[in-house]
Amino acid sequence: MHSIFVSDLHLCPTRPAINRIFFEFLHGPATQAEALYILGDLFEYWAGDDDDDPFNASVLASLRDLTGHGVALYLMHGNRDFLIGERFTTACHAQLLSDPTLVNLYGTPTLLMHGDTLCTDDVRYQDFRTKVRSPEWQQQFLSQPLAARKQIVAGLRAENAEEKQLKSEAIMDVTGASMEKELRVHGYPRLIHGHTHKPALHRHIVDGHNCERWVLSDWYRLGEYLQCDAQGCRVIKLPAAQCN
Ligand code: MN
Repeated sequence: MHSIFVSDLHLCPTRPAINRIFFEFLHGPATQAEALYILGDLFEYWAGDDDDDPFNASVLASLRDLTGHGVALYLMHGNRDFLIGERFTTACHAQLLSDPTLVNLYGTPTLLMHGDTLCTDDVRYQDFRTKVRSPEWQQQFLSQPLAARKQIVAGLRAENAEEKQLKSEAIMDVTGASMEKELRVHGYPRLIHGHTHKPALHRHIVDGHNCERWVLSDWYRLGEYLQCDAQGCRVIKLPAAQCN
């Protein structure tokens, strides 16, 4: 028995090659797992569950097929798709996880996060996050017509891309202090997160405890997932999609 973890797929209709890899993954390796955990940024952006464009609908249908196979599906919000709501999760039988969530993974306590809350040096982003995660902002945003919401999202994405150019790599990475704090608070578990797009296995010693930190890959060029069982975790890279 094993569970698999992905994040930062950033799915959108304009990246068909990666979308094919994702659909093949859902219909192939994912069906062999006990559970699939999507730790944020499944979508490049999410304007609301009522955005039922055909691409979103096809992702939803494939996720529903997977849970129909008996695979448990867990979804965590990322900084791009934090507006995924109950309508979406109910339709694909996913369970929404809060960030962070501590799970017992085949005997090993494992902390699951998207990862953006660990990037505490990026003060501007953390301020933005606080604003857009507030119920007031979300209520106000979601009360607007879909077309207007999409326009706002497009504006935010353009702003974000510009800002990223100006920020140093270090500012957008996880800080040691915030990570150690999370590990300490949760009893020194294994940590799995995404967001930074810097896939790696780090080994940290926190207060004398050995903690593994697995950083998941994005799916910009190819896809990969982390597979964990009672023996531990390993990265599995997916082949490029067949061209047909
Ligand atoms: Mn992210």
